[in-house]
Amino acid sequence: MIVRCDLHIHSALSPCASDDMTPGNILGMAYLNGLDVIAITDHQSCGNIRSALAARCRLFEEQGRAPLLIPGMELECAEGFHILCYFPSVESAEDFWHFCDTYRIHIANKPTVFGEQVYFDADDAPLGVEKDLLLTSSTLDSITLANEALRLGAAVIPAHIDRDSYSILASLGSIPPEFPSRGYELSRNCSIDAFRTLHPELRENFYITGSDAHNLTGIFDGGFAILVPDKYGDELDAPKFVEALRALTSE
Ligand SMILES: [Zn+2]
Ligand SMILES: [Zn+2]
Repeated sequence: MIVRCDLHIHSALSPCASDDMTPGNILGMAYLNGLDVIAITDHQSCGNIRSALAARCRLFEEQGRAPLLIPGMELECAEGFHILCYFPSVESAEDFWHFCDTYRIHIANKPTVFGEQVYFDADDAPLGVEKDLLLTSSTLDSITLANEALRLGAAVIPAHIDRDSYSILASLGSIPPEFPSRGYELSRNCSIDAFRTLHPELRENFYITGSDAHNLTGIFDGGFAILVPDKYGDELDAPKFVEALRALTSE
């Protein structure tokens, strides 16, 4: 089955995202753009996932269809690059969030510099703001973080590895053989074929393209196509999709 995805979307909990990136608006735009699966991947947090699941339920009741929502996070590891993690359930995502929170550098956000970090309630109304800046890195290395996410059932994908900053290739120069994922994300304007030509050592790996949307118009229209093997069935849910992603990124 081909599923149309955008697996890299920031809600207004990410300080760099616009204020109208509420869970309800994100789900509504993903629906209008014909997406089958989306992930909200805020920096170092999944604090808006439960409200996003409520928004998805409302959309489903109203329209009879809604994109599948995967609980996600975008981590910054101690080496200074970003890693996307996709969880089979909100509980496993929150377990990982709280694990990561104990290994993060905590400093106060400066909203005038970085922007507000807004939590939403189940009705899509602002609930409050996160006072700690979520753009600080973890004190844990990438392999420890990735292995903990995998232990909790997640799929792990280093983010935008073609970029000059916050990418595993920019930070480390190459992908360590012990890094426990063979799946990578490329930026929206990077061609997978061109990247494979430039990096023949990574030719055989699995790739996704994410929008890294920080505003509503940035969310993919039509999405990035992922071929989910038939054995996962016609009725995808978050555990099945993440299981498929784990298999695709471990080959
Ligand atoms: Zn990033
Ligand atoms: Zn991002």
